[in-house]
Amino acid sequence: TKETGGTSYRFYTSDMNDMAGKRLKLEIGLRKALERGELTVYYQPKMELATNQIKGVEALIRWQHPQRGLVSPGEFIPVAEETGLIIPIGAWVLRTACEQVVRWQKAGLPPLKLAVNLSGKQFSQENLVGMIKQILQETGLSPEWLELEITESTAMNNVAQAIEIMNELKRHGISLSIDDFGTGYSSLSYISRFPISTLKIDQSFIREMIERQDHMAIVKAIISLSKSLQLKVIAEGVEHDQQRDYLEQLDCHEIQGYLISPPVPANDLEKLLRD
Ligand code: C2E
Ligand code: CA
Ligand code: CA
Ligand code: CA
Repeated sequence: TKETGGTSYRFYTSDMNDMAGKRLKLEIGLRKALERGELTVYYQPKMELATNQIKGVEALIRWQHPQRGLVSPGEFIPVAEETGLIIPIGAWVLRTACEQVVRWQKAGLPPLKLAVNLSGKQFSQENLVGMIKQILQETGLSPEWLELEITESTAMNNVAQAIEIMNELKRHGISLSIDDFGTGYSSLSYISRFPISTLKIDQSFIREMIERQDHMAIVKAIISLSKSLQLKVIAEGVEHDQQRDYLEQLDCHEIQGYLISPPVPANDLEKLLRD
């Protein structure tokens, strides 16, 4: 019967096809998300340990899906990367966050450095520097307030090209940090050649730094490396007072994590800065 046919057909579709279907749905939805205004930017503060002051924020994209609710960037950023959608989405995040920080500056809030993530595809996109310069000009954000976070693997993917782009960004007054540091495969000689200002210790090492001696050793090594190379160092994923206290003792410069605040909408961050 027809019914059996339908059932057997559904039976026929493998998990692989279901996954491909899900992935396609995500791609189609993501294409429309930008135009429909479903994307938004959250901000997570970075606190300086020496002063307990919030010195910067990291912009993190969120997708408010009409049916599914908040979709995590961990799920859709890889799809955006594969499809090239990351190029317009990345430019949108940068523009939106720059506009926001300029608004905060004009409102007389304490000055904040804005960190924006750049994925591998964006980093090697045609005329990246031109795109960024244009957004800075149009939004009126001065380049010294912008920091771009690139992962260790992005930087190591094509070292010569990466150094060239980084130098060009630096010449324009933009700073760079290496995100998820310790999880990639960079050698110390490369790290010293990259014109970066900051290392961000990956949260996987912070998570169990108290419980695991090996992770504590890595955290210490990264902080001491930063000191030797005269780089700023920031720990991400800090959730507990004890982690904070250790990091302060070790002279880590800044911390970021749920202990201070999760990523929040612009209005909530503003409240946090005002009290
Ligand atoms: P990331 O750049 O390493 O960002 C840090 C992630 O850790 C964020 O996840 C943040 O919400 C989360 N986090 C912060 N503090 C804590 C904590 O104390 N505990 C725990 N468990 N997690 C914490 P999120 O926002 O889901 O972003 C995931 C990744 O997606 C980011 O990792 C980044 O690679 C990517 N991403 C997010 N926004 C953008 C964007 O605008 N552009 C690009 N290219 N990638 C983005
Ligand atoms: Ca980041
Ligand atoms: Ca990270
Ligand atoms: Ca100290």
